[in-house]
Amino acid sequence: MTGDEHRWRPAYIGVGSNLDDPVRHVSEAIEDIAALEGVQRVTSSSLYRSAPMGPAGQPDFINAVVAIRTSLSARQLLAGLQAIENAHGRVRGRERWGPRTLDLDLLVYGAETIAEPDLTVPHPGIARRNFVLLPLAELAPDLDIPGLGRAGNLVHGIMDVGPNLTKLDS
Ligand code: AMP
Repeated sequence: MTGDEHRWRPAYIGVGSNLDDPVRHVSEAIEDIAALEGVQRVTSSSLYRSAPMGPAGQPDFINAVVAIRTSLSARQLLAGLQAIENAHGRVRGRERWGPRTLDLDLLVYGAETIAEPDLTVPHPGIARRNFVLLPLAELAPDLDIPGLGRAGNLVHGIMDVGPNLTKLDS
């Protein structure tokens, strides 16, 4: 292995949207992530539809997980993800940012554990949320999530918990 290869770390990103044509937002967000400088070898899970956990009456969510290799630091990657969120949150014709149409979470960054006020990795929601864990386990069942263990094993613990989740036809 050359020294250069050490710069490229695996990372996993959760993608979700429940407003304004969410399938389009999720699909475009995957392309936007792939277009970030310092990101390569992008693969994505199927798209999943999940009932919202919050108040009733909201539209269903569309979720997916994206696997990348990145030469960015975790903080640089988070900044890139937030820029993509902001670009998707803009409501055409208004001056202010509108309701957020896209949520991007840094789920896993290499083997690192980060506990800072504005950045927690692995993302604390992973083990509780089937709409994160199922697409993650689809992409990387053998992924060893720091502090939690193998993604494929975690799925068994949540199969009957949380909102309905269906895989969209590809
Ligand atoms: P939310 O929009 O509810 O996902 O929360 C966004 C906030 O969570 C931002 O201010 C981030 O700084 C913070 N945050 C902490 N850890 C993470 C992470 N692993 N991925 C994305 N956002 C994070």
